[in-house]
Amino acid sequence: MLDVLLDREWTPKLPISCYAIDHPEGVIMVDTGGDSRATEPGFVPWWHLVARTCDRQELSAEIEVGPQLRALGFPPEDVAKVVMTHMHSDHAGGLSHFEGVEIILSEREAKIALSRAGAINAYFRQNNPTWLKPTTVSFEGQRWESFDASIALSSDGAVRLLPTPGHTSGHLSVVVDRSDHLVLLTGDATYSEAALLSGAIDGIAEDAKAHRDSGERIRALCAKRAVIVVPTHDPDGASRLAERRLTTID
Ligand SMILES: [Zn+2]
Repeated sequence: MLDVLLDREWTPKLPISCYAIDHPEGVIMVDTGGDSRATEPGFVPWWHLVARTCDRQELSAEIEVGPQLRALGFPPEDVAKVVMTHMHSDHAGGLSHFEGVEIILSEREAKIALSRAGAINAYFRQNNPTWLKPTTVSFEGQRWESFDASIALSSDGAVRLLPTPGHTSGHLSVVVDRSDHLVLLTGDATYSEAALLSGAIDGIAEDAKAHRDSGERIRALCAKRAVIVVPTHDPDGASRLAERRLTTID
């Protein structure tokens, strides 16, 4: 946390990614990237020192998720579902492109992120679209691999939600079964494959203990199955996915 507050160069610039899963039941988005309004005054309240210091987003309107998806041949209005790993503004910033689409997040995340008190934890609900009425899910049962609970999102079970609390207490990840390997879209359950492998704890995690536990479960999954781990802010995440480079545990 001190690094974040005292060192303006605490991290190099990082990407903000989000992913579209092209499933026969329809396109599923995982997160929605950033908001080009992020540099406008008032987007982050003046009093939120941590958010103002550690989270300086910079993106133009053309690279928001809507135009990018359209260019790829997936108009945002035709997307079947949007799953939010969590509601921080670099993940929820593109929600405005998905009016009319089902937005899914964990009940726990919704409870904090959409409340007035959420601002303390860097959820600025005034930036959300006014139409936002998410479908909330809670994890009870359906053990899956190293996770105590899961939710099958597609009827074939190929797209599954996993509880990965820590960075936020209602954080979830999405695992996609591509038959010979799994793709794990971790959101901010870890910032990079290297951080995951070294067991580094997120300095701004809401719950450091839960963060450590989620990391252990992800590493256990990687030890057992062929997995490509793709965190939102990992500069190599997209190329690992494109080149099908597995995350290996020594
Ligand atoms: Zn976050």
